[in-house]
Amino acid sequence: VCACARPGRLQGKAAMEERRSFYDLDEEERCAVVRECGGASYTEKQVHGWVFRRMTYAFERMTDIPGWVREELSRRFRIVPGELDAAAVSRDGTLKALVRFRDGVRVECVAIPLRAYWSFCVSTMAGCPVGCRFCASGKDGLIRRLSAGEMLAQYLLLARRVETYPRTVVLMGSGEPLLNFDEVWKFLSLLNHPDMGGLGARRITVSTVGIPRGIERLARGGKQFELALSLHHPRDAERRRIVPVKHPLGEILEKLVFYRHMTGRIPTFEYCLLRGVNDSPACAREAADLAHRVPAKVNLIPYNDWNPRYTSSSPEVVDRFRKILASRGVPVTVRRRRGDDIRAACGQLTAERRG
Ligand code: SAH
Ligand code: SF4
Repeated sequence: VCACARPGRLQGKAAMEERRSFYDLDEEERCAVVRECGGASYTEKQVHGWVFRRMTYAFERMTDIPGWVREELSRRFRIVPGELDAAAVSRDGTLKALVRFRDGVRVECVAIPLRAYWSFCVSTMAGCPVGCRFCASGKDGLIRRLSAGEMLAQYLLLARRVETYPRTVVLMGSGEPLLNFDEVWKFLSLLNHPDMGGLGARRITVSTVGIPRGIERLARGGKQFELALSLHHPRDAERRRIVPVKHPLGEILEKLVFYRHMTGRIPTFEYCLLRGVNDSPACAREAADLAHRVPAKVNLIPYNDWNPRYTSSSPEVVDRFRKILASRGVPVTVRRRRGDDIRAACGQLTAERRG
């Protein structure tokens, strides 16, 4: 007997237990399910407004939707795939939220107040399979990939909390976005909808350790996302000691050139300065050479410590590094440290298996 030929009652029970999140549906799927659940053609717009603009968590609250449609929708779907488990606010106003999903897995996401707007930092995986030595997110390996709806849940939870949509989104929480390509792509497409803040691709930064196939797919996707490569060392052998990926920089840079060609966007190198590891003048000169090959901009990140094996470079060394890049004509910025008193800074976000 085929495994799907189970008695109807069981199917119903299983469906109740494993209702899909409405956040995981794209626009086409949403239209289809609302119609299947008995809604008229305009009902989808109403449901959409409730779910995304008013950020309602229960179908029962949608008072202008017929009762039988609401019932059928709640029988088949839940709205949010997770909930806010804890939140902390830093001295500088940075908000860190811990989001718990249905299976108990938890990830962190961050809302950062910039001068006149917010920037949200979203996780794409719980844990990370890459395991960069200086990053807390990858220290225990991959727990699991997140679905598009689980990424959207982080975004909307933060938006609810700070009562506005952000101006920019960065995929710089835990996880390597290009090793979860399809779900990340779906999430970023959802963000584009006017009911979700209508964020354009240029306001979204995808940060990667450099997965050549992923960069190529992103380049061919026809959207102008900002792309950041976590470089951290200009020489392969030494880079691999801190960023353990097999792809050589030559191959990664080729894909960045292709990205630039296809999208017109200038990629950024992220460079976390670690004392005595990657902060020498020679590293700066070689990083400048690599930047010219794309060409790329450089963003220097102070190390946010959690692993005592590494120490951040002194402000003088950061400045020396910056000046060498600048003197070679490379556009270079130094990232301000945000939210480090609540461990919400880059590389400090962690995940938990169950709780
Ligand atoms: N996995 C992706 C995106 C998430 S990490 C990537 O690695 O690019 C976002 C950025 O924070 C990366 O550039 C990463 O190298 C950097 N980072 C990780 N740990 C850090 C730490 N402890 N201090 C400063 N930056 C860190
Ligand atoms: Fe993963 Fe990025 Fe952290 Fe490396 S820096 S372990 S790729 S999240």
